[in-house]
Amino acid sequence: MPETTRPPPGAGLLYGAIETGGTKIQCALARGVDAVLVSERFATTSPSATFAQIVGFFEKHQARYGPVSAFGIASFGPVDLDPRSPTYGHILATPKAGWSDYDLRAELHERFGKPVFVDTDVNAAALAEWHCRPRERPRSLVYVTVGTGIGGGFVLEGRTLPGPWHCEMGHIPVQRHPLDPQFAGVCPFHGDCLEGLASGPAIVARWGAPMSALLQHPDACSIVGGYLGQLAASIVLMLSPERVVFGGGVMMNGTLLPFVRRSARDRLGGYVRHELLRGTLEHYIVSPALDDRAGICGAIVLASSGASAHARR
Ligand code: ZN
Repeated sequence: MPETTRPPPGAGLLYGAIETGGTKIQCALARGVDAVLVSERFATTSPSATFAQIVGFFEKHQARYGPVSAFGIASFGPVDLDPRSPTYGHILATPKAGWSDYDLRAELHERFGKPVFVDTDVNAAALAEWHCRPRERPRSLVYVTVGTGIGGGFVLEGRTLPGPWHCEMGHIPVQRHPLDPQFAGVCPFHGDCLEGLASGPAIVARWGAPMSALLQHPDACSIVGGYLGQLAASIVLMLSPERVVFGGGVMMNGTLLPFVRRSARDRLGGYVRHELLRGTLEHYIVSPALDDRAGICGAIVLASSGASAHARR
């Protein structure tokens, strides 16, 4: 992430952004998505040690840049996202040692007394992808990440879908690809749901190699892209977004996109007629604009849009 040494002249409020991942935490102090003042990564350890580092980061940099107005946290899930819930911002049951029931907002709120807004890393990335497309600004957008798991976030006019749980698009049932009749799938809950058949671990379990090593395989791209295209078609039918973004390591910077688009077109069968869905879908199902910056940029958007909403109340 580019860093600037001085805040831009006349710049506005300062935001604290945190992206919590399974192995790394990233913190950033920013005046906006395009105005990151300083950022740093730490290893994810126990919740208390991790948050001690996060608090230390903001104490140190506030001394130089001034007070943070609001914090945004883009977190691994599952996490309670309902602001009306007494456990808003708490990690729910997770196999990550010590993190179950942990309140992500408490330390920051107690130390700095500023609002703290939480969303999933996938929703945050979807928010960031929406915000970083000012010229083509779609009214609505779905961001799907395909990696260790498969997840998706829906953004409508700059806001993610609120709900008592977060969307779990990766676990939809899919029809079997004709070239893939035997593989049982790896999802511990459903076996052969989409994530069970097309995530990174499913690919390794089926072929003994990651997607990047299977480009010459006669069927791998067609099978994985075929399943992901079923999700894209379901998204079109259920949410009618103006753009669908596919990111994550399994997509290999868009290498799989032609297979996903072809499968989605086949599934839709010409039923939905709209200018956006004409041709090969190359302008509709697209690669991310932000790459690995999407999570932390989403956390900045969470803080800034949350602070604006907070101020209006
Ligand atoms: Zn599943």
